[in-house]
Amino acid sequence: MSTFYFGQYLIRQSEIFFKSELSVALVNLKPVLPGHVLVCPKRVVPRFCDLTGEEVKDLWLSAQKISTVIEKHYKGDGLTFAIQDGKNAGQTVAHVHIHIIPRRPKDFENNDEIYSAIEKERPARTLEEMKLEADELRPLFPKYD
Ligand code: AMP
Repeated sequence: MSTFYFGQYLIRQSEIFFKSELSVALVNLKPVLPGHVLVCPKRVVPRFCDLTGEEVKDLWLSAQKISTVIEKHYKGDGLTFAIQDGKNAGQTVAHVHIHIIPRRPKDFENNDEIYSAIEKERPARTLEEMKLEADELRPLFPKYD
């Protein structure tokens, strides 16, 4: 897998920190909280219903592995998993992806504010910031090729 498209965006290998047979995880351009990452199928398909059973299985097993590591690494105490499936559900990148967000006590005054935060415009990080984070996360996944 030399190039990877997240929707219409060409993603650099330096932004990717996890790969399985059918899924890829990347650091986020505009994280809502530290450790907010994305896992998506390798195949560029917009909607959850477009996935095959094998892809669903691989995607969620990947999300389980990634979230366990991410929660510990960012010293979280809980996780938010979210899929915005379709434009009317707030999806802005037309490629199925699970948001994985480590949670900490009082990271938002009201827990569910995380959902409006996902919707809000946020500053983009630099490529260097994203690379540094992916470099830090990659060794935590021993089977990364
Ligand atoms: P959604 O609005 O649910 O489709 O989520 C899109 C997510 O993709 C947001 O968390 C964005 O910050 C993130 N995002 C958008 N473009 C990129 C990119 N080029 N690289 C990494 N993350 C991105």
